[in-house]
Amino acid sequence: MAFHSPTIHADLDSLRSEITGSLALPGEPGYELSTPWNVAVPVRPLAVVEVHDARDVASTVRYAARAGVRVAVGRTGHGAVPIEDDVLFVHTGRLNSCVVDAEARTARLGAGVIWQDVVDAAAPHGLAPLCGSSTAVGVVGFLTGAGIGPLVRTFGLSSDHVRAFELVTGEGDILRVSADQHAELFWGLRGGKSTLGIVTSVEIDLMQLSHFYGGALYFDGSDAAAVAHAWLDLCADLPEHTSTSMALLQLPSLPQVPPPLAGRFTVAIRFASVAGPNEAEALLTPIRGVATPVVDAVGMLPYSAIGAVHADPVDPMPSHEFSCLTGELTHGAIDELLTVAGPESGSPQTVVEVRLLGGALAREPRHRSAFCHRDAAFTLFTAGVPLPVQRAIEAGVAPVVSHAGRVEQAMSPWSTGRSLPNFASSADPKRIARMYDEDTAHWLSALAEEHDPAGVLRVGPVVRDVGGASSDRGVIM
Ligand SMILES: Cc1cc2nc3c(=O)[nH]c(=O)nc-3n(C[C@H](O)[C@H](O)[C@H](O)COP(=O)(O)OP(=O)(O)OC[C@H]3O[C@@H](n4cnc5c(N)ncnc54)[C@H](O)[C@@H]3O)c2cc1C
Repeated sequence: MAFHSPTIHADLDSLRSEITGSLALPGEPGYELSTPWNVAVPVRPLAVVEVHDARDVASTVRYAARAGVRVAVGRTGHGAVPIEDDVLFVHTGRLNSCVVDAEARTARLGAGVIWQDVVDAAAPHGLAPLCGSSTAVGVVGFLTGAGIGPLVRTFGLSSDHVRAFELVTGEGDILRVSADQHAELFWGLRGGKSTLGIVTSVEIDLMQLSHFYGGALYFDGSDAAAVAHAWLDLCADLPEHTSTSMALLQLPSLPQVPPPLAGRFTVAIRFASVAGPNEAEALLTPIRGVATPVVDAVGMLPYSAIGAVHADPVDPMPSHEFSCLTGELTHGAIDELLTVAGPESGSPQTVVEVRLLGGALAREPRHRSAFCHRDAAFTLFTAGVPLPVQRAIEAGVAPVVSHAGRVEQAMSPWSTGRSLPNFASSADPKRIARMYDEDTAHWLSALAEEHDPAGVLRVGPVVRDVGGASSDRGVIM
């Protein structure tokens, strides 16, 4: 490809000298920053730009427009999408400022901050950020995908608690974006992923929360049916102070997996509640009554242990993911799920998870956003290791891939046909289209045209080219 020519590399030296951060070509120190957490995804950019501030991002975007290349952004690679060698990869890891204002109960975070940093900075003040299940995920990737955390039914989407962003647009403009400034971008950044630009910092609300009642009960696979049906009963009329999910797990025999869970089929009931311990514990009594857990890790926990609820893997791994939203699930739906993914199914998935939505998530926040699925009852997610990684991904025939298709088929009577922007990242326009309703996709596309007419940011999970998009269609909000 022309981009490997000495000319483009010499030309990249001009960008290298313009920025205060660093630029790494393949083989140079710093290029390895593009290696994603999900190592199954091929990420091979033209160069990696480790930015030091918003001006570096603006310089990169403007350079890309001149050179006819595109720009992608990322931090941890938990939501990695394939990146080719006509793309400059902006890595935000050095934008790591994390400032908590305990009195205002807010935090101002550089785009390179991961959730555990914020959890740790807020905890001494008895405050908590609304992070996701894994605290190793980047705050901005999570928030631009709306953000469904372990306490989502109590506090709503994490992005409903964003106050402002600093944004670099596809034209290289540096904007402060809030409900009062560039309100249409504020609407679109909360759910629209990187469609509207590269976020360099974000201001969020912190919750007054030092502890919660929660964790997970793990049961043997032989109890899967009894536990799963009891869990569905728990979900009916569950008070908003409590959130829950169920996961069918086949965790590998690795040193980092606790022995009672390693190398066998288990079922986890995850639970997180801000109710008092007695009230919260009583909700779990029926589930504890149908089987004896092999691990009972539920109790009062400091918020700094919020990652223990899901106990997501920390180390990089290859992963193939599928996700869809559903309406209300019936006991028949649970039977179907167990048939296709239960202990007797031969499922190759490491995790098949169902999270209960609803509660505060179902209500529109004061400032509306590009998140479209407040009426969904559950989100279903599968993740498995596609082996042999490269060949399987390219051929699309790994057992986890075809099995995810079978799960999708089995759950189709209950599926809404939609999915969340954050789960199962994709650059495939058909998959991205499932994440938005028609009107929202139109508006995101129109705003992207307006702020990135050259299409510099047209890479990864972005909404573009939706039916004659133009921002003179009326009002968004
Ligand atoms: C183990 C695991 C657990 C997870 N748990 C949850 C969960 O509980 N709830 C939930 O909602 N999601 C969850 N996710 C999904 C996760 O929130 C998304 O994959 C998110 O995009 C990760 O962001 P990142 O920056 O860490 O990843 P990256 O792969 O580095 O970034 C992914 C995408 O985020 C966008 N992005 C990143 N940085 C910026 C920026 N500075 N400006 C604009 N866009 C940006 C880009 O579109 C980028 O392609 C989980 C993912 C994993 C792998």
